[in-house]
Amino acid sequence: MALTGLNIFKLTPKKNCKDCGFPTCLAFSMKVAAGAVEIGKCPHMSDEAMEKLAEATAPIMKTITIGKGDNEYKLGGETVLFRHEKTFVNRNRFAVAFSDSMDDAEVDAKIQHIKDVDYVRIGEQMKTEFAAIKYAGNKDKYLALINKIKASGVKVAYALVCEDVAVMKEALPLVKDENPLVYGANKDNFKEMVELVKGDKLALGVKADGLEALYGLVEEIQKLGYKNLVLDPGGKSIKEAFENTVQIRRINIEGQDRTFGYPSIIFLDELTKADKFMEVALSTLFTLKYGSLLVLSDMDYSRALPLYSIRQNVFTDPQKPMTVDLGIHGINNPDENSPVLCTVDFALTYFLVSGEVERSKVPVWMVIPDAGGYSVLTSWAAGKFTGAAIADEIKKCGIAEKTKNRTLLIPGKVAVLKGELEELLPDWNIVISSTEAMFIPKLLKELTAK
Ligand code: SF4
Repeated sequence: MALTGLNIFKLTPKKNCKDCGFPTCLAFSMKVAAGAVEIGKCPHMSDEAMEKLAEATAPIMKTITIGKGDNEYKLGGETVLFRHEKTFVNRNRFAVAFSDSMDDAEVDAKIQHIKDVDYVRIGEQMKTEFAAIKYAGNKDKYLALINKIKASGVKVAYALVCEDVAVMKEALPLVKDENPLVYGANKDNFKEMVELVKGDKLALGVKADGLEALYGLVEEIQKLGYKNLVLDPGGKSIKEAFENTVQIRRINIEGQDRTFGYPSIIFLDELTKADKFMEVALSTLFTLKYGSLLVLSDMDYSRALPLYSIRQNVFTDPQKPMTVDLGIHGINNPDENSPVLCTVDFALTYFLVSGEVERSKVPVWMVIPDAGGYSVLTSWAAGKFTGAAIADEIKKCGIAEKTKNRTLLIPGKVAVLKGELEELLPDWNIVISSTEAMFIPKLLKELTAK
């Protein structure tokens, strides 16, 4: 339904009323059409009009919530195909696959990896977010596996992957309180699966043979009044899986078709036959286009470091630079004799510089002033990374109490600040560092050798 101000105006022909806070119905309806205001803000809308317009103004792709508490994740809710159009909304999540066909040693190793890989990078926690527990035919072992993962203390949301409704009925109560994804609605079992999940409004994973069959199955499930879905694009080959995933998103967002307006689940462990390197390569691809929940065979550091980095890059606002915390950062266990190095708060610059300081193995205190999240020269040109800003941070962060060393290194690209800093910080010896980060280790070694 084409939605214009006129549509709403015709549906609610009230005049001289401004209960919505807008000067006219037309102004209000234009905002509603742009998705900036909810239709419910007009108290005079008839129920019939409200129903029609709520459907027409609903987000083009649903946001599906899975998990609970600290392990609650939102999938989907995207509005554009490309990151350069608008920031993506909900980052994809990573799951580790378990199955009742695995032996104890394999399960234990995966659990340990989930526990090991848990770190914070630029304010974001990097960890395995889901356990995808697959049913491979041994019911008792499957139920025991769910209990074992629960008892292990790993902090994850759950995806139960099982198309056998009878087994799912026994498995679901074990993790129902954790708001899991229930995966396994197909053309044969979808009515029973919907019955199973609808009372608790759990997310239901849907699979079919091919895109047309999936489209038809989603329509059938929607006719049952259930719209809390996650779609498996399927595909017997990597090529087909990728094509299907892209097609689903295009049909949804370009074609404005809400039947495919749900997040996706991609079983990369199966597509790659658990080939670690292929998993990493494909995960980067499906992070960009358009996997919402990516199931891997494992998550160790060699997978985590590239995958979480690219995800952070893709799912952050390009208009808002990533920054690190202001103030003092100790590198290589500095003490009261360690020198001080100052750089900007732009995350990329910080990690380049801190990486080189780490490589030098010289203990250093890094002090980060507010440089607006820009690189050294940009923030200097913008009047943010100034002598006054650096001197203020040095005085207020308390670095003078942490070290007796009064050597302050500043980036070589802002050597021009040396004179101003010598005036503002008379107790400090201002040293011009290198213009490129890679020369920092040599400089630090020479400095500390004196
Ligand atoms: Fe029009 Fe409704 Fe706003 Fe009143 S509250 S001006 S009827 S849109």
